[in-house]
Amino acid sequence: MAYTFRGGIHVEEYKNTRRCRIEALPAPEVVSIPLSQHIGSPATAIVKKGDTVTVGQKIGEVSGGLGCPVHSSISGTVTEIVKKTAQNGFNVEYVVIQNDFKDTVCPDIRPVSKKLTEVTTEEVIEIIREAGISGMGGASFPTYAKIQSALGKVDKIIVNCAECEPFITANHRLLLEHPASVINGVKILLKALGVRTAYLAVEDNKMDAIEKLEELTEDSKMISVKIMKTKYPQGDERQLVYALTGVEIPSGKLPADVGCVIFNAETCAAVYRAFAFGTPLISRIVTVDGDCVKRPRNILAPIGTKVGDLIDFCGGLVRTPTRIINGGPMMGAAQWDTEMSVTKSTSAVLLFSENFGKKNVPTQSCIRCGKCIRNCPMHLMPMYIAQFSKIHDLTRAEEYGAMNCVECGSCSYNCPGGVEIVQHIRVAKAAIKAEKTRLAALSKPET
Ligand code: SF4
Ligand code: SF4
Repeated sequence: MAYTFRGGIHVEEYKNTRRCRIEALPAPEVVSIPLSQHIGSPATAIVKKGDTVTVGQKIGEVSGGLGCPVHSSISGTVTEIVKKTAQNGFNVEYVVIQNDFKDTVCPDIRPVSKKLTEVTTEEVIEIIREAGISGMGGASFPTYAKIQSALGKVDKIIVNCAECEPFITANHRLLLEHPASVINGVKILLKALGVRTAYLAVEDNKMDAIEKLEELTEDSKMISVKIMKTKYPQGDERQLVYALTGVEIPSGKLPADVGCVIFNAETCAAVYRAFAFGTPLISRIVTVDGDCVKRPRNILAPIGTKVGDLIDFCGGLVRTPTRIINGGPMMGAAQWDTEMSVTKSTSAVLLFSENFGKKNVPTQSCIRCGKCIRNCPMHLMPMYIAQFSKIHDLTRAEEYGAMNCVECGSCSYNCPGGVEIVQHIRVAKAAIKAEKTRLAALSKPET
């Protein structure tokens, strides 16, 4: 029987690109690489306008705090370093590079000279940090720091291959076309963490990938494939841990607090490439889909590629999009235009027309059907939190667990009242956070 969690929803899959092989995008003329691509401190540019750079050369470094370097994904000339609004709405510095089409590879890129059995945990952590690897599934936490925080606390690795969002098939194609790179990455992470158990958690709508992985791990005593029921949000860390171990992560705690650490499948493959070839994280697989895209595809794109270049590679648009989404339709973020860059966490770009997926449920008031409560994987009472948010009662919104909401949108999906529940909860969460920051600042002694 497939593993699963309580609550959640069955969403229409739209996995249109499941049979689209990964195609490498011809290097674009220009890339625009953000210096902030993960949770933590942004990098500072270590190149300047006019500098020549090579493929894989470090162009940004984080001098203190949580963070890892940024590398050039093409060879060419730095034409400007400019601040602009990033996908997340923050003002971020970008290094813009004009391609010289020479594909000159940075001389620093070379495989690790030691065998896996000979490297220490500290050496693996340093390799991963230097390769600029951060989570490629969405949350984008620096991978080296995740390993450091899990050391001595966990006894198992969970590899998140669920890919439960509609449309996205990037991980699915990776597992089908390069399963060994994921498994080899897991072996490196097992060694670094000193643990002996890893689960590859794959939803049962990817049976072809499951078969491949089972074949490759048949003789492994440490790595096994776990078949997960196809349900949204199966890829949420808390749901994965509960489904596989039966343990609920307490509020405010992390998977490591219950003995688990979770890595995305593509992150594992990036770890393997850093170790085997010395390649930093300079490209990723992006699913480009939506009813506006002429030929949806899975594209291996250099980091910093503009979405407009991805669209051109897909043969252009067949209709004008009114919604451009970075990520999946459930948890992705709406974008302004096609100027945005592919980052280390861009798993998909979706372009939808006005009427696509419209349910025509007029926004009215809650009819107390209780559906959102049944659907909530965090066992919250979403309609009450939404109500408190609407009347700005932050105290009660927090009492009802607003901060435990993972913003999966399962409550809003198919709400017969058309209530924009998750949007209201997001507003409450942001206001609660802002209030806490304000109070913390007030309580600091004056210097
Ligand atoms: S699903 Fe919608 S209508 Fe039903 S209880 Fe929740 S908010 Fe109210
Ligand atoms: S309340 Fe939050 S966690 Fe629960 S279903 Fe809604 S968005 Fe998901």
